[in-house]
Amino acid sequence: MAETDMPSAPRRTAHERQAEVEALFTSIGDGAISTDEFGRITRVNPAAQGILGYSEDELVGTWFPKKIIAVSADDVPTNLIDRPITKAFLTGRPIAEKMFYRRQDGQEIPVSINVSPILLNGKPLGAIEVFRDISLEQEVDRMKSEFISLASHQLRTPLSAIKTYTHMLTDGYMGDLNEAQNKSLSTIVGATNRMNELISTLLNITRIESGTIAISPKLVKLNELVEELMPELELMATAKSIDLKLQLRGKGSTAIKTDALIVKEIVTNLVSNAIKYTPDNGQVTITIRPHRNEVQVEVTDSGWGIPKFSQDQVFSKFFRAQNIVKRETTGTGLGLYLVKGLLDTLDGKIWFHSEEGAGTNFFFTLPRTLPNKKSSSRKKAKA
Ligand code: ADP
Repeated sequence: MAETDMPSAPRRTAHERQAEVEALFTSIGDGAISTDEFGRITRVNPAAQGILGYSEDELVGTWFPKKIIAVSADDVPTNLIDRPITKAFLTGRPIAEKMFYRRQDGQEIPVSINVSPILLNGKPLGAIEVFRDISLEQEVDRMKSEFISLASHQLRTPLSAIKTYTHMLTDGYMGDLNEAQNKSLSTIVGATNRMNELISTLLNITRIESGTIAISPKLVKLNELVEELMPELELMATAKSIDLKLQLRGKGSTAIKTDALIVKEIVTNLVSNAIKYTPDNGQVTITIRPHRNEVQVEVTDSGWGIPKFSQDQVFSKFFRAQNIVKRETTGTGLGLYLVKGLLDTLDGKIWFHSEEGAGTNFFFTLPRTLPNKKSSSRKKAKA
């Protein structure tokens, strides 16, 4: 219908407009709660009552953060200062987060929250929070992870048979091989190794995403742990005539309480990337620096670098930079996503500097000790 054909809207009274706002609020499919400028609940729609198990009378007039209890993935009640509604009030901006709400019957449900301050001439009048029960999404996520985990485990069995028999062939148990046969076998060995790595990457990612990664902290010396990896890393470096160095800088012990296997996975990933993305005859250096409360590891290479415009995507799932895709076809874009996830689990940090054509420096730090709550597997983390 053309705009000119539209019947002009009848003028509404203030009372009618008020009723319309009420009806709008009530019919929002997600939970919606509004508060005054002090955080006292002024309105609750039926969806919010359904999700939280409270009636409107039980909620209206109460102080939002006290009545509606939010907890973290570890069942710890969220501090007032960390509640999205507080952040929205303090910053004057909309805040989106995922957390758990405790229903009236004590059950905890995962919710996705969007809260916006209501401002009039820049002054806060209150806030409106819209939230959604994401139990079903998390369940689908869990099933997806379980499927990948199951499929990866099942793939391992035939793969280990392939590995055993190719090793028997290369070791000459089935007679001498000619040059062409040897060359084909080494291609098979390389491909099976890559498939093995891919499977363990997928398994680790599903463990991180489902919050079921188990951490076994032990006291380890980081420089000794990296030294143990050197023979395998040197093998990769030598194949490209890359000069690989390990150095310890600064004073103090490199001892930390952490999960040694996870740290090995992190270092192997960063160093193999450095080797892979550096042209032949280049240089890769691993530097370990002990600090007071943490130990830092730096992996520097003289390689192709990461273009500036893609640097903010480096830790995203499946990301591979344009300059690399042209040169190196093998790769999944999962390595750094996994490394970041593993470091988060160990309370570590990661960052990098890179210049295209000059090289890349990746840094990560690990704390001297892990908080106790991290020493076992956790329930589904924030999605
Ligand atoms: P993959 O190596 O399988 O592609 P990663 O997640 O390990 O996946 O790395 C993602 C992308 O980040 C790589 O494809 C590459 O573009 C870039 N990258 C990572 N490490 C380096 C490095 N040391 N030098 C240059 N580019 C790198």
